[in-house]
Amino acid sequence: MFQLHPYSVVLALSTIATLSVLIIAWRRTAPGAFALKIMLAGMFIWSGAYAMVWLSASLPQKIFWLKVTYFGVVIVPTCFLLFTLFLTRREKWLTFRNLLLLAIEPVLIVLMVWLSPQALFASIRSFTQDGYVIMNVQRGAGFWFNLFYSYLLILLGLALLTVSYRQANSFFKRQYRMILLGSVVPFLFSAFTHLRREGSIEPDYTPMMFGITGVVYVYAIFRHKFMDLVPFARSHLIEKMSDGLVVVDVEGRIVDINPAMKNFLDADPVSFLGKNITDILNIWNDRFEHLMQGQEIRTEMRLPHKPSRYLDLRVTPLYDNDHTLNGRIIVFRDITDRKEVEKDLRHAMDRMQTQLIEIGLLQSQLREQAIRDALTNLFNRRYLEETLERELARAAREVYPLCIVMMDIDHFKEVNDTYGHEAGDIVLKTLAETVTSQSRHGDFVCRYGGEEFVLVMPNISLEVAKERVSSLHRSISLLYIPFGRFSLNVTVSMGLSAFPLHGEKKEDLLRAADRALYAAKHAGRNRVAVYRENENGEEKEY
Ligand code: GH3
Ligand code: MG
Ligand code: MG
Repeated sequence: MFQLHPYSVVLALSTIATLSVLIIAWRRTAPGAFALKIMLAGMFIWSGAYAMVWLSASLPQKIFWLKVTYFGVVIVPTCFLLFTLFLTRREKWLTFRNLLLLAIEPVLIVLMVWLSPQALFASIRSFTQDGYVIMNVQRGAGFWFNLFYSYLLILLGLALLTVSYRQANSFFKRQYRMILLGSVVPFLFSAFTHLRREGSIEPDYTPMMFGITGVVYVYAIFRHKFMDLVPFARSHLIEKMSDGLVVVDVEGRIVDINPAMKNFLDADPVSFLGKNITDILNIWNDRFEHLMQGQEIRTEMRLPHKPSRYLDLRVTPLYDNDHTLNGRIIVFRDITDRKEVEKDLRHAMDRMQTQLIEIGLLQSQLREQAIRDALTNLFNRRYLEETLERELARAAREVYPLCIVMMDIDHFKEVNDTYGHEAGDIVLKTLAETVTSQSRHGDFVCRYGGEEFVLVMPNISLEVAKERVSSLHRSISLLYIPFGRFSLNVTVSMGLSAFPLHGEKKEDLLRAADRALYAAKHAGRNRVAVYRENENGEEKEY
């Protein structure tokens, strides 16, 4: 009762291809995989049963298999729409109500096909052509209704794919292109079959194309790792990652645990599956109750059973689309190395801080040394040169006078010669202290040369300066400096010059003070002289 019509061979190939792809996809999971598998099953039934229609040589047999095809005929468009909804991440449309609505038409059509086929097919006859028994179906209202409804679903699915295709990144674009191609081919052939007038005696080309669809899907699955790349990568990552990972449900029961957790536990991680997370956390401490409440929490701690190890614990709540809590992911990361580096760094920082302070101290010491004289601790000549300029500028700006005293120890060489150099040094130091102690705040004293000192007095009139210098002169002459069994007494000669009276520039003022000092020496030493120009432009006054 069978005939080997060429169409049945093509259809058989298509059936085998669809079955193969169904087997390949069977154990894979991904968004939409379930709908895809049902759709492939529908294609298998449709093409297989339609192959049987052409293979059968008697009309009742043919009619029986035609009815069988309808299980596939109704499944394919419906599942195609479901598949595209999953694939394009529109699962939220898949409510129970919508699924029920989608089931109505297929169930009705199948019932009609089996219980009152005349609603779909106006007449079914057979005739013989080239030695083959051919079935001729006159299509009725039910048929056209189902065709129209199916096209609507398919066009909707294709539209969703197109919209998502335009928004997708290049990787997903390629996948969408494959799926679009695999879906459009049978659809176009279906339209070609049914929208032509003389179609009634032509075969339905649609199921013949399911083979192509199958092959395209196989290609998409293997070449583009369609459906399983992401889940594979994810599970691989979790299995291989060095961080410990535990997934718990809302009650805190451990539903997943990765191998790396063995670094944080004493027992095999798998043995903790199904136990409560507190069994793990209580190994160390019982203050973790609060970790299992609230939002994302991150904390660092030591492992109590391995106190040298540090742990970074991160608890992330898992919510589903309705914002209800599904469970939590807990990531355990060993951060001992980082902690140790941090500790070393902190120590290094501390050391550097100390060194910086030392360097600062040394620097200020160096600076002091650079501006001070070692023996008397007075400012040195360099400091005078720098500072006097500034002081003069300020005096000019703020319009006040400034006096300079240059002093030189009388017959100092004799002190050295009589009592020795050491005695000379003591005299120098004592004099320095005396001058410093008698100077005002804002004055400054410096050692100008061997036994010469300069005292700078800003903001003082010449008259007042004269008095103060005379007083200083007197105190020095009254000094008796003990040295061994001796008591040393020295006198000084002093020259006084004033800004702006005797000059405005540092050099002029210093020269004027020096001239006055020279005059004091010349006049017999042990006295104070104020600079004054004589007829020759030279000084003369006591
Ligand atoms: P005059 O009254 O003309 O100034 O006579 P004087 O001896 O003070 O002058 P002179 O320039 O001949 O001698 C200055 C002496 O000061 C010579 C030097 O040995 C001494 N002297 C300079 N610096 C120091 C020092 O740091 N320590 C000691 N002990 N003596 C010094
Ligand atoms: Mg001298
Ligand atoms: Mg001298």
